[in-house]
Amino acid sequence: YNYHMTHFVMSAPDIRHLPTDTGIEVAFAGRSNAGKSSALNTLTNQKSLARTSKTPGRTQLINLFEVEPEIRLVDLPGYGYAEVPEEMKRKWQRALGEYLQKRHSLKGLVVLMDIRHPMKDLDQQMVQWAVGVDIPVLVLLTKSDKLASGACKAQLNQVREAAAAFEGDIQVEAFSSLKKTGVDKLRLKLDSWFSE
Ligand code: GDP
Repeated sequence: YNYHMTHFVMSAPDIRHLPTDTGIEVAFAGRSNAGKSSALNTLTNQKSLARTSKTPGRTQLINLFEVEPEIRLVDLPGYGYAEVPEEMKRKWQRALGEYLQKRHSLKGLVVLMDIRHPMKDLDQQMVQWAVGVDIPVLVLLTKSDKLASGACKAQLNQVREAAAAFEGDIQVEAFSSLKKTGVDKLRLKLDSWFSE
């Protein structure tokens, strides 16, 4: 698939407002500031594709992008904002869980985690939800350029071990938008999910 052709389709406040549940979707999730927008921009080779999701008021929306007809990338709301009121956090979490559990076109989940602070509670929750409904997961340990290669490998091993405990289809890779590390692996994984 030519991810460079990806374009913004729409934003939705919840799954009831998403387009018809047909075709194939892969969702991107992560704590806010994990590097999700940067990864989407790197994948699609577009400077501001995911900027829509950064616009104030749009941060809690599900943003949909189309690679080609019936092939979509879904940018889920970033979680873990410290400043967000509890009630809104619960609302977001419910929306995320609902989407993972009810969306038939969802064929894969990419969870982005800062390589320096991986597998926080909500990250584990996302992985757990996906494994629970048999959705394969690609964990990208982002900003890998921030660590020396030895520390990077150590983190990778540790997270791979933690991921194995979930007993699901989970692949863990290092990623850097800055250095373009792991972009090929992301592309290969998406290709395989979209081709099933
Ligand atoms: P999002 O909130 O998950 O969409 O995160 P962003 O993509 O906006 O990135 C959050 C911050 O991390 C920004 O300041 C980015 O410049 C920085 N960042 C993102 N990816 C990388 C990376 O690969 N390397 C480095 N060094 N910084 C990154």
